Amino acid sequence: MTSPALDLVQVEKQFGTTHALRGVSFRVEQGEFFGLLGPNGAGKSTLINIMAGLVRATSGQVAVMGYDVVRQYRDSRSQIGIVPQELVYDPFFTVWEMLKIQSGYFGLGRENDEWLDELLEILKLTEKRDENLHNLSGGMKRRVLIAQALVHRPPVVVLDEPTAGVDVELRRALWEFAHRLHRDGHTILLTTHYLEEAESMCDRIAILDRGKVAALSDKQELIFQNSYRVGVVERVLGSNIPQHVSTAIISRSRSSTQIRVPREQRLQQQFLQQLSEIGVTEDQLQLREPTLEEVFLTLTGEDR
Ligand code: ADP
Ligand code: MG
Repeated sequence: MTSPALDLVQVEKQFGTTHALRGVSFRVEQGEFFGLLGPNGAGKSTLINIMAGLVRATSGQVAVMGYDVVRQYRDSRSQIGIVPQELVYDPFFTVWEMLKIQSGYFGLGRENDEWLDELLEILKLTEKRDENLHNLSGGMKRRVLIAQALVHRPPVVVLDEPTAGVDVELRRALWEFAHRLHRDGHTILLTTHYLEEAESMCDRIAILDRGKVAALSDKQELIFQNSYRVGVVERVLGSNIPQHVSTAIISRSRSSTQIRVPREQRLQQQFLQQLSEIGVTEDQLQLREPTLEEVFLTLTGEDR
């Protein structure tokens, strides 16, 4: 039997009085392209740091390719490459030195040089090989961190918000690279707050909110299981409407209003009745499925 790429069981983490993770459980199978989404502070980076063995969970278990991150730290660490959210690096080393040091950390010597050169080539860093990290642009530094995460050819690759604050060109290059890794057989876990990107890249998605898994599903199911659809009313609903209608409003544009409409039949009838009381008839309302972003907002309550 093959072990899951990542197996998390009831993971909790407390930092003093901050309860960053409150019992997170999920599995990522080998070969998946998995999205971990959630608002700032949801606990995504903490979870990733636990997978990497950098942070110790307060309770619960995490295994990478079947290896427990605490009891079998070295084995589990050899199976995972993490591209961190923050640009952390030692400015005194060159790109090449940094990759060599990281290689050595995994017990790899000169036999790995060919792969390091290939990584530099793939990430378009060959020209920067002997530059000090300190002299590189932010985008280049991010590429180096990706190379660093991959020196030991880990089967599981975790990208923590790789595109936050990078320009469009680099973002596109990063996506292409992530796809390439996936095609080559790597399991990918990606965190991002660019919802459209998660929607287009990932097969399954977990939404983390305040340290808990708020939803975990195939992205299509995530959309269809959501308890709301979106109604588009071709007029702007003003402010003098009852509260139960105004709280359902998602957004207004110049000529229309987007509103959350319950999916469930009885609740939907009730809601349509409330709308008709303020002069919006059923034929003025176009119903559509929510986008992933809208699902995300209803689940994490960022729009409330
Ligand atoms: P995300 O990556 O989803 O934005 P984080 O995992 O960075 O979330 O943070 C989750 C929560 O844990 C936040 O409230 C954050 O302030 C807190 N936290 C994270 N790391 C530490 C730390 N080293 N010490 C104290 N609190 C922390
Ligand atoms: Mg984070």
